[in-house]
Amino acid sequence: MDLGIRGRKALVCGASKGLGRACAEALLREGVHVTLVARGQAALDEALAAMQAIALAGGGSVQGVACDITTPDGRAQALAACPEPDIVVNNAGGPPPGNFRKFGLDDWRQAVENNMLTPIALIQATIDGMVARGFGRIVNITSATVKAPMRSLDLSSGARAGLTGFIASVARESVASNVTVNNLLPGPFETDRLRSTLAAGALAQGQSVEARMEEGRRAIPAGRFGDPPEFGALCAFVCSAHAGYITGQNILIDGGAYPGVF
Ligand code: NAP
Repeated sequence: MDLGIRGRKALVCGASKGLGRACAEALLREGVHVTLVARGQAALDEALAAMQAIALAGGGSVQGVACDITTPDGRAQALAACPEPDIVVNNAGGPPPGNFRKFGLDDWRQAVENNMLTPIALIQATIDGMVARGFGRIVNITSATVKAPMRSLDLSSGARAGLTGFIASVARESVASNVTVNNLLPGPFETDRLRSTLAAGALAQGQSVEARMEEGRRAIPAGRFGDPPEFGALCAFVCSAHAGYITGQNILIDGGAYPGVF
């Protein structure tokens, strides 16, 4: 299926690893011109080198900006490299796990900055241009914990709830101009973040990391963790020309882990 986005420009944040990287690769396969954002230069260079062949095969291009997207300066650098994007994938590292009692107000402010205010700032900076051009796709990588908060992910659930409420309104305002805004809610996907989160839990309970990973896999109806390309493919479809009637949604991708009907 041709997703109809060949030649579009995408800004993909948090894109040197994990889910953001998978989104960037899926968009490149569709012939999109992709700008990757991540802080660490070494991982960014590795990702850029690996993606050149995908870009060449898809007919798009890839470039990278090493900056912190959660700062005004970082966002200015990203938008200078990719002015007037047609597609924005909002993503940055999730907040650290832990019970809310161990976090001070500065930790909460940082979580809100990273997982709520940064996506809002990028939406503010890009959505009116998309509306004027008659096409736009904004995807926020949030978390399955938005629908089913987990005790150890208090910072994440709290901060992302604010973004989710904001999106529900803005997504309805822009859709008549073919600009959609949606949240993708990953369950456990096998990325660096998942491994480090599970390793911390294993350490705390005197368990081996592999035993903890196996326990995690068994808890999911699919019997496995998600594979990042599966997430990238969903992102590319939501960014496609065919998805103009999907907006304001919180789309779970979790191997059946969420037990509810809605
Ligand atoms: P990951 O494997 O740790 O990758 C995070 C990527 O974001 C890296 O490229 C990282 O590069 C970049 N990044 C982090 N902070 C950044 C910043 N301030 N500015 C620019 N780039 C930044 O994480 P992931 O597993 O893909 O997770 C992505 C998001 O999904 C997170 O919000 C996470 O909480 C959420 N999530 C993940 C899972 C899962 O199972 N993996 C489940 C639910 C929710 P640098 O560090 O070099 O900047």
